[in-house]
Amino acid sequence: MIGLGAMGLGMARNLAKAGYLTAVYNRTAAKTAEFKVAACQSPEALAAEVDIVLICVSADQDVLNIVEAIALTINPGSIVVDLSTVSSATAKKAAACLAEKQVAFLDAPVSGGVEGAKNGTLVMMAGGDAGALEKARPVLEAMAARIIHMGAIGSGQAAKAVNQVMCAGINQAVTEALAFAQAQGLAMDKVIDVISGGAAGNWFLHHRGLTMTQGTFAPGFKLALHHKDLKICQEIAAQAGVSIPLTAMTVADYEWLMAEGYGDEDISALYRLKTHTHL
Ligand code: NAP
Repeated sequence: MIGLGAMGLGMARNLAKAGYLTAVYNRTAAKTAEFKVAACQSPEALAAEVDIVLICVSADQDVLNIVEAIALTINPGSIVVDLSTVSSATAKKAAACLAEKQVAFLDAPVSGGVEGAKNGTLVMMAGGDAGALEKARPVLEAMAARIIHMGAIGSGQAAKAVNQVMCAGINQAVTEALAFAQAQGLAMDKVIDVISGGAAGNWFLHHRGLTMTQGTFAPGFKLALHHKDLKICQEIAAQAGVSIPLTAMTVADYEWLMAEGYGDEDISALYRLKTHTHL
């Protein structure tokens, strides 16, 4: 496992529990200390030792740097699975680089938040060779409750982009509605409880509703990372000639919050803008 951030740490713990974890690498080495497996000094060192390399790092260039490094040492016949959220174009570049080494690549971004990573209940949308996915599936099932093969390389990331556009809209709806509730002086715990059980109930309201109304915005999912995803979504939309105004609004809101220093907070920090009370 390469990358022990908010997501990768939970995933690695579940891999260890299932007996699949044999080696870890993290840029900040201290995060590897809890694991009783080989703590590698570099991605290259890790790739030489394993059959399946899992990657979960921040953004496109990070994934490409790691893929270029592991391509130097990885054994032919291995499988590389990228769990990060990046563009389909990056997935295709990574796959092409590894194909030269007879190594299969799967783009397999996930959804379900840090809670899903911790509990092994993520959903995974995978692109790439179906045979490679079947080989990797037992390992991936240690982290994900549902794994759907979307199609060719890049189609996992294309599906994840849909998820990110939807999350932007949900974030706008939930933060705005809760600010509206607060302005009416309602008991926020009761509002969240009752609405969660009805037609407007959703994951984000359930997991982030109370904390945002209490002014707590620990990630979770860093706002700057969702911003990175939405910029990818805007490029796809422009190419496809589709209008995604909720995404444009969210990008602008996030840029304002990032300029104010809130980029490392959870995406629920959008509540700051809606209420103007936590700014
Ligand atoms: P995070 O907590 O910020 O962790 C990022 C990880 O990537 C850390 O292990 C970091 O190492 C490593 N990293 C970053 N740049 C690197 C580089 N150039 N070389 C080597 N390692 C590098 O982020 P996260 O929330 O785990 O997210 C990871 C990926 O999953 C992102 O693509 C994100 O969009 C996606 N994702 C996140 C969520 C969520 O709810 N958080 C849900 C689904 C998908 P250091 O420890 O040294 O910083």
